[in-house]
Amino acid sequence: MRTFLSDELKETPEGREADDILRSCVHCGFCNATCPTYQLLGDERDGPRGRIYLIKEMLETNSATRETQLHLDRCLTCRACETTCPSGVQYNRLLEIGRAAVESRVKRPLSERIQREVLLRTVPEPNRFRLLLGLTNLARPLLSAAQKKTIPVSEPAGEPWPSTTHRRKVLLLEGCAQSVLAPRINLATAQVLDRLGIQALPAAGCCGALSHHLSREDRTLATIRRNIDHWWPAIEDRAEALVLTASGCAPTVMDYGRLLQHDPDYASKAEKLASIALDISEFLEQQNLEALGNATGDEPLIAFHSPCTLQHGLKRAGSVEILLSRLGFRLAAVQDAHLCCGSAGSYSILQKDLSRQLLQQKLKCLEKEQPALIATANIGCLTHLQSGTDLPVKHWIELLLNCGESSPHR
Ligand code: SF4
Ligand code: SF4
Repeated sequence: MRTFLSDELKETPEGREADDILRSCVHCGFCNATCPTYQLLGDERDGPRGRIYLIKEMLETNSATRETQLHLDRCLTCRACETTCPSGVQYNRLLEIGRAAVESRVKRPLSERIQREVLLRTVPEPNRFRLLLGLTNLARPLLSAAQKKTIPVSEPAGEPWPSTTHRRKVLLLEGCAQSVLAPRINLATAQVLDRLGIQALPAAGCCGALSHHLSREDRTLATIRRNIDHWWPAIEDRAEALVLTASGCAPTVMDYGRLLQHDPDYASKAEKLASIALDISEFLEQQNLEALGNATGDEPLIAFHSPCTLQHGLKRAGSVEILLSRLGFRLAAVQDAHLCCGSAGSYSILQKDLSRQLLQQKLKCLEKEQPALIATANIGCLTHLQSGTDLPVKHWIELLLNCGESSPHR
């Protein structure tokens, strides 16, 4: 694609990067075929190729409209288009640059600014998020059964983590929403790791993905620096990995090095953290799992939903399914497994209608073979899927507690 960005813009790192990405697109349109929003809306501007054109136009003319903002907002950042693109166009990075550019040129209506600010000030802060959920749930008696399902509840912390000390240690990211909505996920992870002779050390904090996706770089970088300060003593104490149980956090944490590359005080530490960050599926793939034992053989049929961050962001499509099958779990075939469930971080709140349509489509595919439960790998997807089904929805790591003869969870 030919581009005509101003020399001034091309002198900036973002301008050069955007120019390179734009030039790598041959506008073939293959990506539209797997874009959930293009499939729903049928508008070129709601597909990846159209959004690429909108960003190109904005950067070339140095102007943006509310319409540009609307079509970029509707993107789920699911990255299915990147998986499909034969030219390797780094769409997600271009979208980040485009969204930051549109934010600085187009002022949002007051209601949207308030909504985004409330999200940024509550979700990444577990105490505030818990309080907000508690207040929201006060209205529960007034709601219909369907409405009640859309409001998550916070979960009590449950059993303490295993207390055995092991020579091998990993940091386990607690995250923000997950630590309030489902602390059982990291508890299960710590128990699984304990059975493998690995000690999980809790790493408190939000990864910064929410503010990053809302183009609030100031806030994102402050969050990352705070995380590095908190986690660094454990890294120096030879924690061998930073393990992530929410696949939605992983791409952001793995990008810490790039995000802080210009900060002389934090660049090398950020790079180090990014280099040892692993999704729990990848970490377990590298371990000898014999100590876990296998599934019992009479396990119920499971439909696995692979989050976009896992399959398109981390390029780990099929990895959890292979691991579960290897351990003896029975998995249902899932049609259109590449499509987003509509959760997409704050998307389910900011783009409710599109999000609900995608949820219905996804549940239809997941429930087709009548599984007994749905498993996934990201708290956002888990909560979103649960809001639309009566089937239990779990993180797949919880299933591993059912492995082996000695499990107390059988
Ligand atoms: S992003 Fe890739 S698939 Fe989409 S139009 Fe450009 S080159 Fe084609
Ligand atoms: S990230 Fe997802 S929603 Fe956005 S353009 Fe690509 S495929 Fe479409």
